[in-house]
Amino acid sequence: MSRVYNFSAGPAMLPEAVLQEAANEMLDYKGSGMSVMEMSHRSSTFESIIQTAEQDLRDLVGIPDTYEVLFLQGGASQQFAMVPMNLMKNRKADYLITGAWAKKAASEAKKYGDVKILGSSEADTFTHLPDLSDLAVRDDADYVYICENNTIYGTKYHTLPDTKGKDLVADVSSCFLSEPLDITQYGMLFAGAQKNIGPAGVVIAVVRKDLIREDVLAGTPTMLQYKIHADNKSLYNTPPAYGIYICGKVFRWLKDMGGLEAMQTANQAKAKLLYDYLDQSKLFRGTVAKEDRSLMNVPFVTGNADLDKAFVAAAKAEGLLELKGHRSVGGMRASIYNAMPLAGVEKLVAFMAAFEKENL
Ligand SMILES: *Cc1c(COP(=O)(O)O)cnc(C)c1O
Repeated sequence: MSRVYNFSAGPAMLPEAVLQEAANEMLDYKGSGMSVMEMSHRSSTFESIIQTAEQDLRDLVGIPDTYEVLFLQGGASQQFAMVPMNLMKNRKADYLITGAWAKKAASEAKKYGDVKILGSSEADTFTHLPDLSDLAVRDDADYVYICENNTIYGTKYHTLPDTKGKDLVADVSSCFLSEPLDITQYGMLFAGAQKNIGPAGVVIAVVRKDLIREDVLAGTPTMLQYKIHADNKSLYNTPPAYGIYICGKVFRWLKDMGGLEAMQTANQAKAKLLYDYLDQSKLFRGTVAKEDRSLMNVPFVTGNADLDKAFVAAAKAEGLLELKGHRSVGGMRASIYNAMPLAGVEKLVAFMAAFEKENL
């Protein structure tokens, strides 16, 4: 067996310890004689799995009782519709556009109400965040929406925008659990699991309880109502049970690693190594404004598309995989989520330095 360093933006690497544990429990989960994949989601064994996962997540982030933790399906993309369907009381919401995912969320919301764009950095191909200094949030806006870490472009909000008292809704798919956060700053947040948490198929939503309402937009399907999932503790229908089980193992792994502060320290060390190299390189350069740089997704280019291609191919031969940039931006992108070991980034930087020597 040989494992590679997988720099994919998602699905991404999972901690080896988690995969090993899951492998050991594959045929017989704790004496049940079956895999979690084969288990009734109404069994007390699975109930204990999902309840432990929720509690561990609450402990890690510091989520109080005033927020629901929901394990949902449909990916982060389904939240682009669920958010307006459930939260648009006045049918008005204000969006900040910082990349493809925020744009998709805003155009989905337009199907349900009046969407105002508070700011956008599209004219500069999203290489920085828009001006956040005095946002013209509407008095009757139901919420302000951001994509907190822009997976494709590699920018991140290092301070949350002043929403003028309106509830903040954040897509945190590619930064959730990478560092501590203050949940009380958010009305709700959501994260697709396949970036930094677990297998695709699970999306985690953390929603302040007073935002969970019965009087959602007319025609909202039962399965798309937060209240249904909250009332049924994420077991209204068959949940993505195996995925939740793996997420639970990742939460436990994070606790064992020392929690979110420790993860932040590790992630900062990995990102610094890569950014410091990029900043002095004569061949490669980062594409994002320094003050907005993401800890998780690091896009870079040589400025020569053929050389970029040659780099990605040569890196692959060395066991450094999925370094090609998103098809909409080109170049390279290294996603260095929680489960990417420091050794992986060290190997990448050493390889980049060698490639630079040969190609300069
Ligand atoms: C990947 C990603 C999405 C889309 O996730 P799906 O689970 O494929 O729907 C949305 N937002 C962000 C920030 C992402 O990184």
